[in-house]
Amino acid sequence: MNVMEIYETMEYGPAPESPTLVLDWLKEHQPFGLFINGQWVKPASGKYLDTINPSTGKPLAQVAAANSNDVDAAVAAARVAAETWSKTPGHTRARYLYAIARHIQKHSRLLAVLESMDNGKPIRETRDLDIPLVARHFYYHAGWAQLMASELPGYEPVGVVGQIIPWNFPLLMLSWKIAPALAMGNTVVLKPARYTPLTALKFAEIVQEIGLPPGVVNILTGEASQVGDALVLHPGVNKIAFTGSTDVGRTLRRATAGSGKKLSLELGGKSPFIVFDDADLDSVVEGVVDAIWFNQGQVCCAGSRLLVQEDIADRLINKLRARMEKLRIGDPLDKAVDIGAIVSSAQLQEIQRLVAQGVEEGAVMWQPSWACPTEGYFFPPTLFTNVSPATTIAQVEIFGPVLVSMTFRTPAEAVELANNTRYGLAASVWSENINLALDVAPKLKAGTVWVNCTNLFDASSGFGGYRESGFGREGGKEGLYEYVRPMWETSSSSSNGLPIAIESTHSSDGSEQAVSTDEAGEDEMDHTTVSESFNGYHLALPAIDRTPKMFINGKQVRPDSGYSRDVYDPRGHVIGQVGEGNRKDIRNAVEAAHAAGGWASSTTHNRAQILYYIAENLSVREAEFAHRLVQQTGCSGADAATEVQAAISRLFSYAAWADKYEGAVHRPPLRGVVLAMKEPIGVIGMACPSEYPLLGFISLVAPAIAMGNTVIAIPSQQSPLSAIDCYQVLETSDLPAGVVNIVTGDRDTLSQVLADHDDVESMWYFGPAEGCKRVELASAGNMKRTWVNYGHQRNWLDLVQGEGEEFLHESTHVKNIWVPYGE
Ligand code: NDP
Repeated sequence: MNVMEIYETMEYGPAPESPTLVLDWLKEHQPFGLFINGQWVKPASGKYLDTINPSTGKPLAQVAAANSNDVDAAVAAARVAAETWSKTPGHTRARYLYAIARHIQKHSRLLAVLESMDNGKPIRETRDLDIPLVARHFYYHAGWAQLMASELPGYEPVGVVGQIIPWNFPLLMLSWKIAPALAMGNTVVLKPARYTPLTALKFAEIVQEIGLPPGVVNILTGEASQVGDALVLHPGVNKIAFTGSTDVGRTLRRATAGSGKKLSLELGGKSPFIVFDDADLDSVVEGVVDAIWFNQGQVCCAGSRLLVQEDIADRLINKLRARMEKLRIGDPLDKAVDIGAIVSSAQLQEIQRLVAQGVEEGAVMWQPSWACPTEGYFFPPTLFTNVSPATTIAQVEIFGPVLVSMTFRTPAEAVELANNTRYGLAASVWSENINLALDVAPKLKAGTVWVNCTNLFDASSGFGGYRESGFGREGGKEGLYEYVRPMWETSSSSSNGLPIAIESTHSSDGSEQAVSTDEAGEDEMDHTTVSESFNGYHLALPAIDRTPKMFINGKQVRPDSGYSRDVYDPRGHVIGQVGEGNRKDIRNAVEAAHAAGGWASSTTHNRAQILYYIAENLSVREAEFAHRLVQQTGCSGADAATEVQAAISRLFSYAAWADKYEGAVHRPPLRGVVLAMKEPIGVIGMACPSEYPLLGFISLVAPAIAMGNTVIAIPSQQSPLSAIDCYQVLETSDLPAGVVNIVTGDRDTLSQVLADHDDVESMWYFGPAEGCKRVELASAGNMKRTWVNYGHQRNWLDLVQGEGEEFLHESTHVKNIWVPYGE
């Protein structure tokens, strides 16, 4: 036999990893209890559930089935622990997180084997990727615990966090949730997925081992219907962090709406893998293997849509088929296996159903010639060609080893095809032309873009989605904001020294009902002619009566309804009219805001210039704007002047921030960089607060447009004239048409239309608590981001409450673009 013959006939021998250590550990511990307040306790139900080894279909261990009583106990323990843990110095928390990371490494082999046996993924992946990344996450966040005081001044922990994780990366998702939560001083109650609870239980043992104070981490195994619901609805929980399906994410959005609980959702995806004709095709083939056959394709950011430039499609597909023929499927504990088992028989059936549907819809299916093991839940790598972009398999997340491929001709077509999905989690771009790759990357609607690589993760680089892939980020500095809130929110009392909002003071016939202002002038006012020395402030006489219109697409427009609504002063006198906006006006405004999307790519210098110009033009009309404030709210002339000055200053602040709120360049442990770009969210709807009619409007609009968003603003319902007056300022300040649209009318009716609208990417609402709840509920439609005040007023004059980081954070999300380098 010569060398060539040996090479060609060479077969892999078995290279099994021993399960003995894990089997002994399981025998010692089962049935497993629940981990509450640092102790192992029996479940209140007295019931246990089997967890199955997917590669054999046989039971592996018994775990406790928690119910709502256990949730009560765990949340109570976490609340008590939070009292101390939240005040523990950052350095102390850093030491605990560091100890967890060290112990993960010490138990790495057991954890890797346990994860493989419980989930079905190959040992090569758990050993080389999952577990090292888990340790890295705790190390990295130990650093943020250490630095919290200096790097996040003005922020405090949220409190008790309920965390719900899926089965595809059981321990990794646990680390993505627990590490930042603990680093920021929160305590947690975590529910692992029903199919894969075991590594979370080993983690609980590690927590005990390192002496983490009781109650800081609590782990409840069991079923979603018993544990998930109770955790999500529990009044003692301040935040829910979830990773899983978009359907459940939507349920959680609705369930938590109006509760004041913070929510972060990392949901599904249908990520594009774009190959240009100058790409290195051999690297592409290995990239595809990592994109869709890694973890059996059960990856939220799996590159499940292969988009290939037409002229190289046949060549690539042939290479891919040859590679698929060589993939090895089988026992996950065999170190030479590429593809392991699907997590459950239910998931296997779902994959089989969708694949059958793809064939029925006319796509061409190809699978390698070899057969899968008959025991356990296996599915072969599968490639669909001749796929039309609108078919089910091109749109629905299959969550299995199934790749669908389509072709494109030009870069523009590639971007359009890539973005033709309701998701927006990740994307890969393959081209040897770095100019092309870096031009395409920002145009992709995805939270992460990999250039000439795929499925790379690191704690330093935030991960999360757009659109129906959810909101919030995990990892990076941006991920920390999910686990903190501004300190002023808890330190300020309800009265807060603020003027109380003037709400619903008039019935439709204009008769006065209840007026509530801080210090409406004592004197009887004449509203038709305002005296020059009104409230001690020098005012110009009002000009000829006019009916302010709405402002859509850079034009003053009359309301579609043809109706106007009266605007009253605090005494119930009519001081003007504004248009009664309706659904159609909002639709037009959203259309205009989308058409003005080019604003996002205008230079930050240009945006800063325009904001300065708006400030300049507002200052020219300072007295007139102050007059309007006095007229509408009855505030003193001095207070009105202060508000106008503050609005001008705020415009200056965001002009300053426009070119300074920048991204970062991360250095993850690879040869390359990750460009963390702060991107505008897109079209933002905003219901402005009733109080501070001018400053409230400017405080919301200015950061949004400074960051490149376009907006539809509903001005203060009681006092809309100040915002409406602004359109003349905007018109004279070179602001492109459609960047700011103003629709007047009933705040809650209009907000509902905006929150329901699928082309609005974020909705801000500053109004009563019931309105906040309605907005959060409606946002579940397209999973848009929301920012609401839960009925609490903020002091808009205050520099901490009224401007800064929080506003900029709400105006942006971070896209991470991974760029490896080197030959
Ligand atoms: P789910 O979204 O149902 O499960 C994820 C987690 O949420 C699990 O811990 C689950 O508990 C829990 N959960 C389920 N329902 C509720 C609820 N009403 N309230 C609170 N918690 C709940 O995913 P599935 O396991 O059912 O998988 C279905 C599909 O979801 C997959 O085919 C895939 O498309 C997608 N998926 C996406 C993931 C991602 O990372 N983006 C991860 C997992 C799935 P329990 O396990 O007890 O049911």
